[in-house]
Amino acid sequence: MVAIDGPVGAGKSTAARELARALGFDYLNTGAMYRAVAVAARYIGIDDCTADSRLQQLLDSITITCAGECVLLNGKDITGEISEPDIGDLASRLSARPVVRENLRKLQRAAGEGGGVVMEGRDIGTAIFPDAEFKFFLTADVRVRAARRFAELAARGARIKEAEVLAQLRERDERDQQRELAPLRQASDAIVIDSTELDVEQVVRAMLARLEHKRGTQAN
Ligand code: C5P
Repeated sequence: MVAIDGPVGAGKSTAARELARALGFDYLNTGAMYRAVAVAARYIGIDDCTADSRLQQLLDSITITCAGECVLLNGKDITGEISEPDIGDLASRLSARPVVRENLRKLQRAAGEGGGVVMEGRDIGTAIFPDAEFKFFLTADVRVRAARRFAELAARGARIKEAEVLAQLRERDERDQQRELAPLRQASDAIVIDSTELDVEQVVRAMLARLEHKRGTQAN
């Protein structure tokens, strides 16, 4: 198990996917699972102010399938929908609700218990797999993260200003760090990689080097 945590826009998804490919591991983007719950909530017009019992009902009624790059909600491909900025925001607000985290925790534990997985999110190395063999905390300067996120959104034709992206990203980081249950933080035994001045290839190379080094140390 390789756990990769970090804030919005640090490049976790691309790095995790590439690392999984290099290692021949499966890849699981847990943020996409929270986003899928947000899409399901939006379909029926509920949000993070909804009672636990109603949220539990929603969670019991949906199936989330992560198949490589694609995310299916009850069998329907929602890969495009989950990347909308307001879905990211709703996912972040819903993720502060213990009932949501507990349901997704079970799915994530089940997906990773056999090993051979690169799992990325906010709490993988701290709460979901605190005993993960390898833990990375991927971060970058907040302005660089916002610029990357803005470029992604602009390429998809989204009408949003870079300053708005920066403000949303700060708000989401703050909420993820401040929530009571499984907040975003660096595990004490995580290897920190700052991607401010690194491209994806360099990040993956740095991760592979650290994995090889740790395996070499363990073998000796
Ligand atoms: O990673 P991504 O930005 O797609 O995640 C969307 C939101 O889901 C995050 O802002 C965070 O609030 C939540 N999340 C979480 N725990 C995870 C993964 C994502 O709380 N393991």
